[in-house]
Amino acid sequence: MAGSRYAYVRTFELPDTLLPGTFIVVRLDGHAFHRFSDEHAFAKPNDERALQLMDLAARSVMQEYRDVVLAFGESDEFSFLLRRSTALYNRREAKILTTIVSLFTSSYVLNWPDYFPETRLKYAPSFDGRIVLYPSAKEVKDYFAWRQADTHINNMYNTVFWALVQQGGQSTKEAHETLRGTVSSQKHELLFSKFGVNYNTLPDRFRKGSVFVREEIVLLHCDIIGDAFWSERPYVLE
Ligand code: ATP
Ligand code: ATP
Ligand code: MG
Ligand code: MG
Ligand code: MG
Ligand code: MG
Repeated sequence: MAGSRYAYVRTFELPDTLLPGTFIVVRLDGHAFHRFSDEHAFAKPNDERALQLMDLAARSVMQEYRDVVLAFGESDEFSFLLRRSTALYNRREAKILTTIVSLFTSSYVLNWPDYFPETRLKYAPSFDGRIVLYPSAKEVKDYFAWRQADTHINNMYNTVFWALVQQGGQSTKEAHETLRGTVSSQKHELLFSKFGVNYNTLPDRFRKGSVFVREEIVLLHCDIIGDAFWSERPYVLE
């Protein structure tokens, strides 16, 4: 049957091999998690259970895919770095992307009850995904620095925003107004003077996100901006 008159349709499937010798980064992100987090009553600004469930799903990806050497997560997203020389699925883009995103998603759903024992899943969550190739270590480091800087900016904003709403009695609209145009130092100041919170003492998990490295898959909440992290782990960029 393989040589049947129908088999020609196979030739419409185009090759999607990723350029050899480049770093592969897979980033996935929760689809419409603004709504998902509302519907499932996530604590704001940071639901620790939800972050831990994301970490667990990422850990399962690292356990299954040994060529993932580094992962970074924040909020509803995770990025995975594959070894530059990986031959996973002959570097076929769709195969790599879809298997990683679906394993992450099924692991998230499978383990949901352990992290949210009191909250039934109301509907099936999904994650989008993309693959980006980087030609050298410089872009890889800058990529992860970019995501961690994003973590910091978002967490800063969300922390002040929810303090204004939950403790300051402002509506969400008013809180956005209050924060419009403010720079980082003003947010620090507002948080400290109005709510007695020193931003720098908030948990590292919230300020720095989650860093998985393949030293027996260790979870860190450490700085990846700057050179120290990378020079201590040369294998990540080999
Ligand atoms: P898109 O489908 O475009 O990604 P989105 O609604 O998922 O849309 P994001 O920019 O990805 O938008 O933002 C994710 C949102 O999910 C955050 O803004 C926040 O409201 C919520 N969220 C994710 N993780 C947590 C968490 N651990 N605690 C509280 N809220 C969270
Ligand atoms: P790949 O990852 O390359 O797709 P695979 O093991 O999934 O590898 P497939 O060619 O997709 O290989 O074949 C799926 C296999 O799964 C079938 O050969 C069969 O053994 C099993 N399978 C799938 N669905 C069923 C089913 N409903 N009942 C029994 N076996 C099934
Ligand atoms: Mg998005
Ligand atoms: Mg999202
Ligand atoms: Mg997101
Ligand atoms: Mg199959």
